Amino acid sequence: MARQQGPQTSPANKDDLIVITGAGGFIAGALTKYFHNTGFERIRAVDKKPLPNWYQCVPGVESLCLDVSEKENCARACEGAVEVYNLAADMGGMGFIERCRIDCLRSILINTNMIEAAYRAGARRYFFSSSACAYNTELQKDPLVRPLKESDAYPAMAERGYGWEKLMSEMFCQEYWAERGFRTTIARFHNVYGPYGTWDGGREKAPAAICRKVIEAKHSGGNDIEIWGDGSQTRSFAYIDDVTEGIDMIMHCDELTATPINLGSSELVSVNELVTLAEEIAGARLERKYKLDAPRGVAGRNSDNTMIKRVLNWEPSTPFRTGLEKTYNWIEQQYLARQAGSRTGF
Ligand code: NAD
Repeated sequence: MARQQGPQTSPANKDDLIVITGAGGFIAGALTKYFHNTGFERIRAVDKKPLPNWYQCVPGVESLCLDVSEKENCARACEGAVEVYNLAADMGGMGFIERCRIDCLRSILINTNMIEAAYRAGARRYFFSSSACAYNTELQKDPLVRPLKESDAYPAMAERGYGWEKLMSEMFCQEYWAERGFRTTIARFHNVYGPYGTWDGGREKAPAAICRKVIEAKHSGGNDIEIWGDGSQTRSFAYIDDVTEGIDMIMHCDELTATPINLGSSELVSVNELVTLAEEIAGARLERKYKLDAPRGVAGRNSDNTMIKRVLNWEPSTPFRTGLEKTYNWIEQQYLARQAGSRTGF
């Protein structure tokens, strides 16, 4: 849907300081670039990863290597901030989320310390990146799911570890508004994908993992592909450019203060369909080997976009085929560069 005049209130001035955490990673890296391209002159990008390992280091942006689970580092990160976008989290695809629940839960330290630091620094607005994993898993047992609407998080039965951390951090955001009048916004992302994201190493999500497997097969002469689960599980996937634009709109909409909102596509795709699309892009046809004991997450999940369309007159609209082709091409470049001995994304 084309962006229309929504009920935004004034965003920060172009010379106000914007702080973005998790900026060495996928979404916050893209967000940093988005605000830089929009003309913001003072952006502080923060991540615990060493700078050479960031997916994107945007020239002209102050880039700091800090662990924002530590209180003192959060105070440093937020010094002088007008707006704070907290996207740092220990995070990954289903394999990581199911295996590393303690790491996921420990991200509670990040939001707990960041929101307090942002409040104390006198920031005007605070953004928290929540997830569709906060939704009640009981509602996601059928691949032909009813799309999840914002009220479906309660009664709570979130994804163990990762989803519960998101739900608790959402509550922090809501209470900072209720008790202290600190303006917070909360977006529940649904499977974001695109270039400059994790595509290898165990934390990658389904679109990147499937693209990589198809690319590996194509370039190594392989003729099969391993698929986690039976391929019937469904998801919706939001393209990164839609997500950065959506974050900007959500952050600056007063009606959405302390109100969780879906930020996802409503185009439902099964894993089998995802494999077919990746094969079409590659011009390959592979034999599918289903690994039924692999992590597969909930059976189905889709985003109900009624609320975002009502409030912002907008929803993510990049067709999955279009976004996947861009993602595939970027991963193939990375793959070939790595094969040629170059250092590639982390
Ligand atoms: P990512 O892993 O690419 O980026 C997260 C970044 O946070 C990493 O670079 C990591 O080094 C950094 N980080 C972790 N702990 C930190 C710490 N203590 N201090 C400083 N930096 C730290 O993940 P992403 O996909 O870009 O996700 C960004 C946010 O969006 C996360 O909060 C994630 O939970 C949320 N989210 C993402 C998706 C998705 O599909 N990618 C879906 C739902 C929610």
